[in-house]
Amino acid sequence: MSADSSPRVKRIGVFGGAFDPPHNAHVALALAALDQFELDLLYVIPTGPAWYKARALSAPVHRLAMTRLAFEEMPRVVVDDRELKRAAPTFTFDTLRTLQAEDPQAQLYLFIGADQFAAFRQWHRWQAISELAIICIADRAQYTLTQTQCDAFPGHNNRFAALKLPLMPVSATQIRKLLASDEVSAAGIAQLVPASVARYISLHHLYRSY
Ligand code: ATP
Repeated sequence: MSADSSPRVKRIGVFGGAFDPPHNAHVALALAALDQFELDLLYVIPTGPAWYKARALSAPVHRLAMTRLAFEEMPRVVVDDRELKRAAPTFTFDTLRTLQAEDPQAQLYLFIGADQFAAFRQWHRWQAISELAIICIADRAQYTLTQTQCDAFPGHNNRFAALKLPLMPVSATQIRKLLASDEVSAAGIAQLVPASVARYISLHHLYRSY
């Protein structure tokens, strides 16, 4: 069989995050991932209690609801709650291994921001992760992907790819701070999160200091 007539390998993307709350850069990243890597499916996976986050995260029920709102009606995106259902902190490695077992023929792509990539060597079983999935990295303000960084993974550096995304200076930390400062109404974050997420935050009075 010629290369051209080979069946196309299914491409499954994985995009994890605290999503506390999900914001416009998360949505833009997902859209860019679907487009540039011609994904058949993108799993968006809110993380359970994360071992690497110093602060306590908002309740899983709220993060899941907001994530569903942020990505609703986005074709080929599935918001997956498997990590939230696990009692103990979970590792990306475990999730990727499970997804690979569910669809052994598929090629997995893991999407992360360059801030996460900067600490990639601290991830549990990072070598195994880069064997299970191609790691696709989006630049983020103050963090940009360099060839030097990829070269720092001898034997694995062909497992990294750049996700082209314009720099978007938004973070969940910034949104939580704005809301906690009490100077900003839910309308004040309207440029930073999808409208449905802003409404949910307002309705449930999330991130307020009072
Ligand atoms: P926090 O400020 O609470 O740390 P965050 O804004 O980084 O949150 P997360 O839910 O932790 O949001 O991020 C999930 C993933 O999205 C991570 O891989 C992160 O690097 C990426 N990401 C978040 N914001 C951006 C952004 N503005 N540009 C590119 N990638 C981003």
